[in-house]
Amino acid sequence: MFFISTRGQTRPHTFCEAVEAGLAPDGGLFLPENLPSLAGKLAGWEKLSYPELAAEFLSLFGSEIPPDEWHELTKEAYRRFDAPEVAPLKKLSDQIYVLELWHGPTLAFKDFALQLLGLLYKRQVRLSGKKLAVLGATSGDTGSAAIHGCMGQEGIQIFILYPHGRVAPLQERQMACTGAPNVFAIPVPGTFDDAQRVVKDCFGDQEFVREVNLSAVNSINIARVLAQCVYYIWAWLRLPAEVRDTVEFVVPTGNFGNVLAGWLCQQMGMPCGSFRVATNQNDILHRFFSQGDYQQGEVKPSHAPSMDIQAASNFERYLYFMLGRDQGRVREVMQRMKAGERLAFPKPASSFRSTRMDDETIPQVIAQVWKDWSYVIDPHTACAFTGMAEGRVSVVLSTASPAKFPEVVQTATGSEPVHPTLEDLKARPLRTHPLPAEDKAVKDFIRAHP
Ligand SMILES: *Cc1c(COP(=O)(O)O)cnc(C)c1O
Repeated sequence: MFFISTRGQTRPHTFCEAVEAGLAPDGGLFLPENLPSLAGKLAGWEKLSYPELAAEFLSLFGSEIPPDEWHELTKEAYRRFDAPEVAPLKKLSDQIYVLELWHGPTLAFKDFALQLLGLLYKRQVRLSGKKLAVLGATSGDTGSAAIHGCMGQEGIQIFILYPHGRVAPLQERQMACTGAPNVFAIPVPGTFDDAQRVVKDCFGDQEFVREVNLSAVNSINIARVLAQCVYYIWAWLRLPAEVRDTVEFVVPTGNFGNVLAGWLCQQMGMPCGSFRVATNQNDILHRFFSQGDYQQGEVKPSHAPSMDIQAASNFERYLYFMLGRDQGRVREVMQRMKAGERLAFPKPASSFRSTRMDDETIPQVIAQVWKDWSYVIDPHTACAFTGMAEGRVSVVLSTASPAKFPEVVQTATGSEPVHPTLEDLKARPLRTHPLPAEDKAVKDFIRAHP
């Protein structure tokens, strides 16, 4: 199978090429040229384990990797998850299920993609014989998941920039306490945008990119979207047959990365009901899905920091389908968006609904869910617990372990959530490599750590 760019000015890429490139050279995002149909396959997938299901699904797209090798890759990727089901589906009531996506090494859903991506990088190093320098900027969860996907992998050095003092203390520990010699956690002064700018400047220097074989790790890699499709299919197969057609998946989101995967499964013929985009007070996606209004505002920090986003980077993939796969129009709309124009679309009459949650409400919801079902949720997942569809089953995607956000959860429930992984981290020495927010300093540092 080949992958094309949403902006139409990139030659078709194979799966491995698209994964390696991350962003398409024309600035667009990769998508499968054609979506395969799942309709005839779903019934036969019911009895598979999670890694088996992932291998079956991913080999439809990464057809240049033999199926046997896919099975080895996914078995390895999900081996370190601390639940035998990998993604357990918990029933809170007849109407509400929770899909726990935080049993991976960094206790958030990004491990589903980044554990796999680390192995795909490793495979590439083995095949090409060339070492790889992986570089990214993070506001917290993506960076730590990327580090845990790459740590200890032969031939890979990983460099993650983050805004000094602006990531959660436990997130910093997840990046800086691995003890792995190939991991470099780099705090830089300023905000996430400053860290991101330095990374972009490094990638702007083509000579440097070739010299160190630089690869980008971020939230727009096609491997991320495809790896995430698997848990929607997994959850759907675990529901009672009579509710599958109407179930609503409820997804706490900011970048549109997670919910897009579910929607693609529906496009490929998984018959489910609808999707609800659940935002925090940074509600650009809610405004889009409820009113057709798409305009970036100021980011307001919230209890759910991984959703504090005003430019939903994966949204372009949905836009491509919404604009009838017209790549010229995608280019035009992205141009206007970049110029800060306020865009009005017809209100999407699709299978999407949306809700938004005020920051003050988040702790109240954590308290209420604890009171009603003796179940503890994190502040991102809390954003999903409003406006449940009536008379239908909802599956809430729980994106992080409550133990990652001890303060707000303790305030709401009266007890501090603990997790052995995090307790272990608190005891380890922190190793960071502070640098100025300048590409020259970062390039020199990367060169000095081959
Ligand atoms: C990254 C993240 C999100 C948001 O993911 P999207 O890509 O915006 O869908 C939500 N919750 C947690 C815990 C995250 O780490």
